[in-house]
Amino acid sequence: MAAHKHYTGLITRYRDRLPISDDTRIISLNEGNTPMIKLENIPRLIGKDVTIYVKFEGLNPTGSFKDRGMTMAVTKAVEDGSQAIICASTGNTSASAAAYAARAGIKAFVLIPEGKIALGKLAQTLMYDAKIIQIQGNFDQGMEIVKQIVEHAPVTIVNSINPFRLEGQKTASFEIIDDLGTAPDYHCLPVGNAGNISAYWKGYKEYSISTENHPAVTNKRPVMCGYQAAGAAPFVAGHMIDNPETVATAIRIGRPQSWDFAWAAQKESGGWFNKFSDDEILAAQKLLSQHEGIFCEPASATSLAGALHDLKHGNIPEGSTIVCTLTGNGIKDPDIAIKQCADAKPITIEASLDAVKRAILDSI
Ligand SMILES: *Cc1c(COP(=O)(O)O)cnc(C)c1O
Repeated sequence: MAAHKHYTGLITRYRDRLPISDDTRIISLNEGNTPMIKLENIPRLIGKDVTIYVKFEGLNPTGSFKDRGMTMAVTKAVEDGSQAIICASTGNTSASAAAYAARAGIKAFVLIPEGKIALGKLAQTLMYDAKIIQIQGNFDQGMEIVKQIVEHAPVTIVNSINPFRLEGQKTASFEIIDDLGTAPDYHCLPVGNAGNISAYWKGYKEYSISTENHPAVTNKRPVMCGYQAAGAAPFVAGHMIDNPETVATAIRIGRPQSWDFAWAAQKESGGWFNKFSDDEILAAQKLLSQHEGIFCEPASATSLAGALHDLKHGNIPEGSTIVCTLTGNGIKDPDIAIKQCADAKPITIEASLDAVKRAILDSI
């Protein structure tokens, strides 16, 4: 084997653990293989002896973890002869579906809630040339329509109710174990439609169970901690909710499709759900940017907000190893970022050495 093997995506890397055959045409943009970044400053700031890694999924090809599931879903759709895919989306699924459809040479239809998707996600979806259908309703309503439309039009659903999505997404757990040599003690992540927490748990289980073809890679499994936005927290309420609201648009969901899977992940792992206000979520996003140089989108910061809360209240003990999934890239939602930094407005001065010198010396 060559010393340097060109990375060609998660299906190639984990193909013997995925439903892929030798003749499958793989639709890939080299997704996955995202970095686990160890936080260096935040543990010190909060005065806790703890190891926190962030798995920065915002560095996937379209800037979110959705690419992990989409490479599988679109690969299988194409294998089945599908000419078009469809999804309801809060933004990232539509960007990802559009990109992989472009790559495959098929059509993508996306249903998005009017006015409730972050600007970057809209820009991407337009550039990848998907057919965008804005609905005067929220994600949950779009999802219900998408589930019915397949009986009326020749399209393949690529939302996470498509089982191949979770198959692709479970590889994030494989990567974490391959990186750390074992599973972390706690795994924290934001929960919207709950596909991701379900997929991670599936991945952790599969790597910890010996089968005929695969001896267990580790026998350790993490405690799964699922965090929601206070205005969109059906798992904390214990029932589906109508009219979810949060600044973290990616998790603005009241009727999660992977309801049962996510409860199983919580129960089997001994984990829990909790919810955080928009202010707490945005504070965590800012903290991560300011003190670690890592810019994720608001929904993603919910994982860190939760980890910090549970450390503070002793639910997660010191000495633990924690992984927080940062689901999407901060650049996707420039409006919220700029709004958050309203008191750090750029100053405007004349274009002279003297003026610039004064501006610097004034703020040192
Ligand atoms: C989709 C998404 C989530 C929620 O993931 P689910 O699988 O729906 O729970 C969280 N954050 C971002 C950035 C997302 O795009």
